[in-house]
Amino acid sequence: MALTMDAIVSLCKRRGLIFQSSEIYGGLASTWDYGPLGVELKRNVKEAWWRSMVYERDDVEGLDAAILMHPETWAASGHLSNFSDPLVDCKECRRRFREDHLPEFIGVLLTAADGSGATETVIVPADSFDEAMTKVKQTGKWSSKPKGFWTATQLPPEQVKKVCPECGGQLTESRQFNLMFKTFLGPMEDSSATVYLRPETAQGIFVNFENVQTSMRRKLPFGIAQIGKSFRNEITPGNFTFRTREFEQMEMEFFCKPEDKCKPGERSDMEWWEYWKQERYNWYIRYGIRPEFLRMRVHDADELAHYAKGCVDVEYNFPIGWSELEGIANRTDYDLKQHIEHSNAKKGLMFFDQERNEHYIPYVIEPSAGADRGTLAFLCDAYREEAVEGKEARKYLSLHYSLAPIKCAVFPLLKNRPELVAKARAMALDLKPSFFTIYDDTAAIGKLYRRQDEIGTPFCVTVDVDTLTDGKVTIRNRDTMNQERVPMEAVKTIVSDALANAKKQ
Ligand code: ATP
Repeated sequence: MALTMDAIVSLCKRRGLIFQSSEIYGGLASTWDYGPLGVELKRNVKEAWWRSMVYERDDVEGLDAAILMHPETWAASGHLSNFSDPLVDCKECRRRFREDHLPEFIGVLLTAADGSGATETVIVPADSFDEAMTKVKQTGKWSSKPKGFWTATQLPPEQVKKVCPECGGQLTESRQFNLMFKTFLGPMEDSSATVYLRPETAQGIFVNFENVQTSMRRKLPFGIAQIGKSFRNEITPGNFTFRTREFEQMEMEFFCKPEDKCKPGERSDMEWWEYWKQERYNWYIRYGIRPEFLRMRVHDADELAHYAKGCVDVEYNFPIGWSELEGIANRTDYDLKQHIEHSNAKKGLMFFDQERNEHYIPYVIEPSAGADRGTLAFLCDAYREEAVEGKEARKYLSLHYSLAPIKCAVFPLLKNRPELVAKARAMALDLKPSFFTIYDDTAAIGKLYRRQDEIGTPFCVTVDVDTLTDGKVTIRNRDTMNQERVPMEAVKTIVSDALANAKKQ
C-alpha cells in the first residue's frame, strides 16, 4: 500500500515526533512543534549535514549569524523588490492561492448532439481530462450533466481562465505579495525601525565573507556553512512540515574562482557546481534514502534567476509526489557584487589573488537544503510495514543508525521483579553517556519492542531472570529482529561499534 502523508502525521503525533503547534488553542495553521523524539531526529539530520559539510572537510568553516539583519541587506539581495509570489483570491469562497501553484485546467466545448446547436464551455482539472473525454466519446454523456448527448472538443489554453480549485469560483487578477515578515526594532513602530525576519540564512554568510576569510586566513576555494531558522510568509503552506512559514535551512556558500581566473588543473565554478551536485546527492543516499526515491531535476534556462549559471533541485518522491528537498545553484558573483554596491565593504568583499596580484569577486556555489524537509524525507523513506503471519503488521522505521532518535532501549523482562528492574535501570544509566539510551518497563516485552521499532531504535536489550546468574542479556536488532545473548559488559562495545561503522559508510 502506498504511504500517505496522513500515516506519517499520525505516527508523528502518536510517537512524540511532531505535534500541531499551540494545539490547546486549536492550533496555528501550518506550524509544528518537534516533540521529544522529533527534536532528536532533526538534530541528528542537522548534525549529519554539519559533519559532512564542516568536520569531514578542510575547506569549509561554520557560522551562526543573527536572524535580524540590517534592512539594507534585503535591498542588496533583491528580496525587498523581488521576493514575492503571485497571489490570487477566490471571489466566492475567499480562499487564497499562489497562482503558480494552481492546478492545470483544460477547457472543453460541449456541443449538443440533438441538432439544437446548444453549446456550453466547461473546464476540468488536467488530471481528470482524459477520463472525461473517453467517457463522453463512449457514452455521449458529459461528466455530471444529467442528460443529452454531447460531443466534446478541447479549447486552446489561452481561452481557459483558471478557477478556484476548491469551489470552482472566479479568481481575482494576480498581484505580487512579498513573503518577508516585517517587525520593528525597538519601541517605535515606524518605517525607520522596520526590520525583517530573514527569509534565508545565506545573506548572513555573504555579509560575513570578509570576517571569515581574514580571521581564518582562507584562500579560494572555501565555503561557509550555516544552519538556522528562516521565515517566509508563504501564501499556501501545507503538506505537514513540507512547507511552513517558519523553517530551518542548512545552507553553504562555496566561494571559488570564476573560470577565467583558474590556473590549469584548478576547478572552475561550473566544475565545482558539478562537484557539489554529486556530493549532495550522495549525502542523501549515505543517510539511507533509497535511490529510486531521489532524483536531480536540472532547471531549464527559463527557470533560472537572471544571475544564475545553473541550478538543480534534489527532489524526493514524497507521498505528495516529487518535490524539492534542496537546490544547488551557481550564483556567480551576484550576491557579493550586490553587497559591494550597497555597503561600505567594497574591496573587503573581493578576494585578493596574490599570484595574479589582482582583486576579483569570487563565484559562489550554493547547496541550500531544508532541515525540516530533509527530516520529513528521511521519515517517509524509513517507514516500513511488514506482514507478520497471524499478527498485526510490524511497523518500523528503518532509519540510518546516525539519524535514529534513540540508539538503545533497555527493558526488564518482568517488571514485578525488583532485581531485574534495578539491573536494567543501572545498565541504561551506564550506557547513556556513550549513546542515547532509554529505560522502559511500561508494557509487556512484545509491545515494548513494537514501540521501539516504530520510532526506529536500532537496538533493544532485555534483562531476564537468567541475567541474574549468567550475567548475559538479549540484544535485538531492529532490522533483522535477530536476538543474541551476550555478556552485559559487551553491550556498550557492540552498540558503539555498530553506530561508528554506520557513521563511516
Ligand atoms: P519552493 O519552490 O518549494 O518554495 P524554494 O525554491 O523557494 O522552495 P529555496 O529558496 O531554494 O526554496 O530554499 C532552499 C530550501 O529551503 C528548499 O529546498 C527547502 O528545502 C527549504 N524551504 C524553502 N521554503 C520552505 C518552506 N516554506 N518550508 C520548509 N522548507 C522550506
